[in-house]
Amino acid sequence: MEEFVTIQCPFCGQTFDVTVDTSVRRQSFTTDCEICCRPFEVLAECANGEVVTVETASE
Ligand SMILES: [Zn+2]
Repeated sequence: MEEFVTIQCPFCGQTFDVTVDTSVRRQSFTTDCEICCRPFEVLAECANGEVVTVETASE
């Protein structure tokens, strides 16, 4: 299952949606901000097919 979650860019502060695979309990991936195009890391934890926590981190 994939679910949309709203994350906030650590650089420009804008929020936008990314998809998270909720079948993976703990995952991290790099995404580019849709607004300022800078890459940052997203850490997501899922349980029972739902996203529990999402954190963003700049390098
Ligand atoms: Zn940004």
